[in-house]
Amino acid sequence: MRSNQPRLNKANGQLEVVLSHSNSAPARADAPGPVLLLGAPGAGKGTQADVLAKLWGIPRISTGEILRSNVANGTALGAQAKTFLNNGGLVPDQVMMKMVANRLDRADTAEGVILDGFPRTVGQADWFDEYLDDHQHGAHLAVVSLNMDLDRLVARVIYRTVCPVCGSVYNEELMPPKRTGICDNDDSVLEQRNDDRLDVFKTRLGVFRRETEPLIRFYSKRGMFLEVDAERSPESVTEDIVSGMMACRKRAEFERLSSSSRAS
Ligand code: ADP
Repeated sequence: MRSNQPRLNKANGQLEVVLSHSNSAPARADAPGPVLLLGAPGAGKGTQADVLAKLWGIPRISTGEILRSNVANGTALGAQAKTFLNNGGLVPDQVMMKMVANRLDRADTAEGVILDGFPRTVGQADWFDEYLDDHQHGAHLAVVSLNMDLDRLVARVIYRTVCPVCGSVYNEELMPPKRTGICDNDDSVLEQRNDDRLDVFKTRLGVFRRETEPLIRFYSKRGMFLEVDAERSPESVTEDIVSGMMACRKRAEFERLSSSSRAS
């Protein structure tokens, strides 16, 4: 194994980074500030957000999950969002910004946060830039784009099933549970998300192309922007994100130091 590469500790399920100059126990990778995951529906944002949040010990904000739980609990926000979710459209920007601001304002995001599903429009991204600047986090934002051939997403999404109790995600073709339709963790009957039906998925993909794909260009000019091939195994994708982020941070730090030494 190359040094400085993260590796999966099978005993505790955590990714660890072994530093090349150290013979001691592996150190956990550092918490990274705000990290934004961009990608089409089915590219694996939720899966990666979950693993990375555990690895870095920071919360994740999955806007789709927050909306779905509001719908399930019959809240006012859920009532506003329900039709958009079921049709595969986007919930209006103003609603999303208020929801995300409320969540970001909680104290547990101080060390960093992983955003899965926000921003999704240029309007949301402009708002988010201002939010980060107001909270002095702008310089630390890292953006990870999970790239995948859009034609291959269909199989990932239409065979996706989710445990209504523990939230585990399966794919009846690609990542099946041990018993068809039953959660490995708690024996619950797995469900399909309403919006994973083929007709709704096609709408979501169209919305992604029109509204969210432009964000890749929006962020690609920034210092900490990382593109990852999302077509490989979830573990390989996580390893690429962690090692790519470390490289991005080193480069950003180097550039910061060289520009401050030029200035003095
Ligand atoms: P996926 O990324 O697989 O499409 P999500 O769980 O992130 O799934 O989102 C499900 C749905 O929730 C979206 O299709 C949309 O209706 C709504 N949604 C989630 N995030 C946003 C957002 N930032 N802006 C508007 N709508 C959103």
